[in-house]
Amino acid sequence: IREERAPGGRGEIVFYNLGKFSQLISDFEEIHYKSDPIQKYKAFEGFLEHTAEDAYPEGWQDNAYANPDAVRVMTIHQSKGMQWPAVFVPALLRNSFPASKMGGRSVWHLLPREGVADQARYEGSVEDERRLFYVAMTRSQKFLHLTWAPIPGNKRAQKASEFWEDILVSKWVKRGKAPDYAKRKRLPPQAKTSVANVVFSFSDIKYFFECPYQFKLRVLYGFNAPIHEALGYGKSLHDALAEVHARAIRTEKIDVTDAARLVETHLHVPYAYPALREKLEGAAKKSIAEYIKDNQALFDQIEFSEKKIEISLGAGVSVIGRIDLVRRLDTDEITIVDLKSTERAQAEDVTETQLHIYALGYEELTGRRADLVEIYNLDKRERKPRSVDDDLMKDVKDNVLAAADALRTGVMAKTPTAKKCASCDYMRMCSEGAKVK
Ligand code: SF4
Repeated sequence: IREERAPGGRGEIVFYNLGKFSQLISDFEEIHYKSDPIQKYKAFEGFLEHTAEDAYPEGWQDNAYANPDAVRVMTIHQSKGMQWPAVFVPALLRNSFPASKMGGRSVWHLLPREGVADQARYEGSVEDERRLFYVAMTRSQKFLHLTWAPIPGNKRAQKASEFWEDILVSKWVKRGKAPDYAKRKRLPPQAKTSVANVVFSFSDIKYFFECPYQFKLRVLYGFNAPIHEALGYGKSLHDALAEVHARAIRTEKIDVTDAARLVETHLHVPYAYPALREKLEGAAKKSIAEYIKDNQALFDQIEFSEKKIEISLGAGVSVIGRIDLVRRLDTDEITIVDLKSTERAQAEDVTETQLHIYALGYEELTGRRADLVEIYNLDKRERKPRSVDDDLMKDVKDNVLAAADALRTGVMAKTPTAKKCASCDYMRMCSEGAKVK
């Protein structure tokens, strides 16, 4: 499958929907990962037929970054918070919008009205519907088209909505045939405004730094990587060490004998088969005990653990993240630390970038400049400190702004290298990845 080969320029929409389908498969796999294969496929068939349709919207609809180059069809409720240059509100029919009170069963056949405080609020009044109509109209930035037409054979759908009559009173509303916009003078295309404010999490943006097209496939389209049996190990280790640091900040006593209890509390590897779980349990105990032993003397230097940061880079762009550890050395220097284990491993230059983003965040949060950044490798029991590099900090800032720009303009290029593509989860969906032997 290649996005650029989809006919009629529909690659983007097709990929949004395939991405959503991949999320659906992952959701199912999370529950049925260990089921017998035949049962699993049968259950998947049932899941598709009876559950999935209502639970999964169009691919782009619940994606904060998504802005497909297509006509978007949605309910008024779904459109809240968004705007477009041209909006169409069709079917403004009496008995339909505002909705007439329908007969038949409703929740009030089960609940006594007098038993619910302020019950009228939950009935839905004409004024509530009018407010909804206001929401619909104000989604438009430039052109708003309101239409209605009788539905043949439906007696209740023959007249225009009362809102239609109300709106025609306005001198700003033009009636009759819509003008021919094709003849209008066109301005050069601008960045799409509905993603004007961009908030990246570091875990998302790191994929952009690796390859913008990989970011598009993973974060925008939502293609999930396959589930790995050891999934959760790195996060478990991280959570256990977060508890170690939190207790150290509270000056509670902590030593190597705590390792077993920490693993018991935090190890969550739901996809591991029993032998693998046992192996991971042993590895986690060893890793935590070694970390405590090697770092105990430094625990009184911890200033923050799991510190949430938000960095505003201007132009409506910000990055959010969480710093593993901040230490204040005896020399009064501030060190920002990132803990790495094999499963959470990422290229060292990506971690350097991450730490420099966090250094920016630390400065924004405390008004104080960080002096050092440090990668602590749990498997090798080694730390790699280095001074905060102002040039790298500036480059990182520029790269984040460029990423936001790419997101707004929808240009997310492939940046292949043999090494990167060979380990890319999406190499079979990308024309460049397919070239890697
Ligand atoms: S295969 Fe290579 S070019 Fe394609 S998305 Fe992956 S890293 Fe990018």
